[in-house]
Amino acid sequence: MKEGLRISVIGCGSAGPAAATLLQRQGHRVTLFERAPACRPVGAGFLLQPSGMGVLKELGILEQVLARGARVERLHVVDREGDDVLDLRYSELGEGLFGLGLHRPVLLHHLIRTMEEAGVETQWGREILDARREGGKWELRFADGTVEGGFDLLVAADGARSVLRGKLGFRGTDRGYPWGAHWFIGGNRGAFPERELFQIVHGTRRLLGFLATGTELDGGEPLVSLFWSIKLADDAAIRARPLEAWKRDILDVSPRAQPLLDQITDWSQVLTARYGDVGMSRWHGEGVVLLGDAGHAMSPQLGQGVNLALADASCLARCVAELPLQAALDRYSRERKLALSYYRLASRQLTPWFQSDHEWLTPLRSVFFGLTRHLAPARKFMTRTMAGLVGEGRK
Ligand SMILES: Cc1cc2nc3c(=O)[nH]c(=O)nc-3n(C[C@H](O)[C@H](O)[C@H](O)COP(=O)(O)OP(=O)(O)OC[C@H]3O[C@@H](n4cnc5c(N)ncnc54)[C@H](O)[C@@H]3O)c2cc1C
Repeated sequence: MKEGLRISVIGCGSAGPAAATLLQRQGHRVTLFERAPACRPVGAGFLLQPSGMGVLKELGILEQVLARGARVERLHVVDREGDDVLDLRYSELGEGLFGLGLHRPVLLHHLIRTMEEAGVETQWGREILDARREGGKWELRFADGTVEGGFDLLVAADGARSVLRGKLGFRGTDRGYPWGAHWFIGGNRGAFPERELFQIVHGTRRLLGFLATGTELDGGEPLVSLFWSIKLADDAAIRARPLEAWKRDILDVSPRAQPLLDQITDWSQVLTARYGDVGMSRWHGEGVVLLGDAGHAMSPQLGQGVNLALADASCLARCVAELPLQAALDRYSRERKLALSYYRLASRQLTPWFQSDHEWLTPLRSVFFGLTRHLAPARKFMTRTMAGLVGEGRK
């Protein structure tokens, strides 16, 4: 009965192209609107989890993505003295499970290619300002003054700073974190572990991480992403200082950063990442659904954003395939509730332990993670959390 729904998807990040592809393959007519004038991935590297890889398999692009990623077998966190804080290994969950460190353009390239092959109409440079429901159909208003109507379903996947979330009357919390990070991606040059996400913490104000990031789309040398925790209010002041002073602060936490820092000659190579925190308990309304960060932005402490966005897309497509539209959207919110609520809560709770002014949390962190390191069930649950598998009972 839903053959040939007209569907508009807003945003070409992770959730948007994945949802557009899966819905178009079901025989619906999907148009994706993206405000960027062309494919423009932001950020450096990220960690794809087994949960996200499951969706890439469904999309048929897992092999291509695997070929450019770095197999990450372990999350290893130590303090400045080199003592273990956290050590989680995917192998604890079974053979063959791993994370995949990826350069963002690699994933985006394959998502866009498979979406276009599926026949989705993609319109670049189309910034949506508002959407209105008239006679059971959606009408979209764009920044260039144009209006397009006749959509049965509106899929808002317009990211953490979604304009649609507020315009469509979704209730919930929407706040930013005071802490973010400086990011840089460079050549590994044999200096960093290629199978780890490795972090060094010093109190709660200093966190330095290295993520094996695979290669660029056309191959080349192995890459590594460096991230360095900062208080966002200090960003301008830090950037006003000489680059060398910033490098000295990082080297004070770990001299291992030297080969990467040597590749930075200008502040323009360093990105500032900000994190949103969006919470709600229902991600749909009449003929509309919020996917990805638009509905549940969170701090990347658990590295789940892309994975949850992909899982959202898969769940939505499955619900739409099996039920009449409104019942499908009801079921979507019900099915996503456990994973989305859990990961948002866990990210919120965990973030101050690693990024905050609450130095008094440092000894508590040592005790808590010390205990979980030695308690197999607790360690296994934390590893399942890291792998993105809590609440993701794929049907
Ligand atoms: C520093 C950092 C590190 C991270 N690390 C990880 C990690 O290791 N693993 C992980 O899984 N996740 C990670 N994340 C989170 C991840 O990046 C996001 O959760 C993910 O990108 C969300 O995908 P999305 O499709 O919901 O939104 P986005 O990727 O933000 O895409 C939204 C798209 O919508 C478009 N858009 C916005 N407004 C409009 C409009 N009005 N009209 C038209 N188009 C619009 C945007 O241009 C954009 O292309 C990290 C995030 C940060 C900041």
